[in-house]
Amino acid sequence: MKEIRFENVWKSYGKTQVVKGLDLTIKEGERLILLGPSGCGKSTTLRMIAGLEDITSGDLYMNDRRVNDIPSGKRDVAMVFQNYALYPHMNVVDNITYGLKVQKVQKDEIITRLNTVLEMLQLKGYEDRFPKDLSGGQRQRVALARAVVKKCDFFLLDEPLSNLDAQLRVLARKELVKIHEMYKQTIVYVTHDQIEAMTVGDRIALMNQGQLQMLDTPENVYHRPANIFTAKFIGSPPTNIVDMAYQNGNVVIGEQIFQLTPMWINQMNQSSVDKFVFGIRPEHLEIYKAPLENTLKGNVKYVENQGSNYAIYVELEGNEVIAMSEKNKWYPSEEVYLRPIVDHIHIFDKETTNSIGYPKELNHSLLLP
Ligand code: ADP
Ligand code: MG
Repeated sequence: MKEIRFENVWKSYGKTQVVKGLDLTIKEGERLILLGPSGCGKSTTLRMIAGLEDITSGDLYMNDRRVNDIPSGKRDVAMVFQNYALYPHMNVVDNITYGLKVQKVQKDEIITRLNTVLEMLQLKGYEDRFPKDLSGGQRQRVALARAVVKKCDFFLLDEPLSNLDAQLRVLARKELVKIHEMYKQTIVYVTHDQIEAMTVGDRIALMNQGQLQMLDTPENVYHRPANIFTAKFIGSPPTNIVDMAYQNGNVVIGEQIFQLTPMWINQMNQSSVDKFVFGIRPEHLEIYKAPLENTLKGNVKYVENQGSNYAIYVELEGNEVIAMSEKNKWYPSEEVYLRPIVDHIHIFDKETTNSIGYPKELNHSLLLP
C-alpha cells in the first residue's frame, strides 16, 4: 500500500514541541491537504515524510514499512518547495532532468518523460531558458515538472503556489489536479489557504499548534466542523461564534431566543454538555429590516463591500456577528433582524470546544459518507 501512516508522532526542537502526538493515515492515491495557520507544524510534518527531519518519538510508516530511520533518498518521494529552489545556472531542461541523470535513468526514458511534462505543463518553447528569464508562474511549473518526472509514489508539496498571483494560482491548481489524475501518486499538499485546500483536496487534515483538529472531506470540514477552531478557520468571513444557553427547545442568546427544530431538540436532549456555544456561518444568517418569526434583533455596525456580496457586521446582545447580503441597503445604527437557518447551525461544548454532533436526520447536500 502506498500509504503514509503517522502513529503518535512527536517532534520537538529542544524543549519546543512542534508536532504533538500526530495520528494520521494518508491513503494510497489521495490528495491530502495539510492545512492550518502559519507555524502550526505543517512543513515540519511534511519534512518528516520526506526524511528531511528526524522524528522525536512515535512511528512513521510508508508502504507499510517503518521509515523513521530510512534516509530521504530511499523513500520514493518527490518534493516541491515554496521557493521552487531551481538551479540558477541550469536551463529548464537541465533543471527538470538533473535528478533523473543522478538516478541513472536511461537516456531515452529521460527524453520521453521530459517531453511528457514539457507538454503537460506548457513549457514547450522554454527549454533553453534560465530561471532568471522565466516568470514566477513558469518557474513554478518547472519546479512541478522536476518533481513530476521522478514518477515517485509520494508527491509532497509545500505551499507550492504561494508565490503566484491569484489568476495563476487558479490555473496551477487545475494543472496539479490534472497531473494527479494522470499519475495517481499519493499527494500531501501543505497550504495555509483554505480555498486551495477546498479545491485541491480529497481530504483535509486541519492542524493547529501541532495537533490535528479535524480530518475529513472538504464538504464535511465545511458543513460539520468538529470543533470551534475548525468552524472559525474554514470559511470567509469566519463562522460567527457566540455564547448561548439552552432552554425548553430554544437557543437563548443574551435576552433573546429562537426556536430549534425537533431534530435539534432531540440532539440537545442527548447531550450531557453543560455550557454551549452557538455557531452560524455568515452565509447562513439571514438579515431582514422587520421582525419575522424566529429572528433576533441587532444593530448594524458597518458594512463591507466584498464584490458580489456585502458583509453586514451586526451587534447582537454584546457580540459582533456577520450576515451576508446581496444588497447594499444596510446602514450603520439601523435595527435589523437576523434569522439563523436552523439546518446550518452548529453547537459546541464550551469546555472542550468540540461539536456536540449533528442530528442524524440532517442531510446537507454535498455530504459524503
Ligand atoms: P508551518 O509550516 O505550519 O508554518 P513549521 O512546521 O514550519 O510551521 O513550524 C512549526 C513551528 O516549529 C514554528 O513555531 C517554527 O518556528 C518551529 N520550528 C521550525 N523549524 C525549527 C527549527 N529548526 N528549530 C526550532 N524551531 C523550529
Ligand atoms: Mg510551512
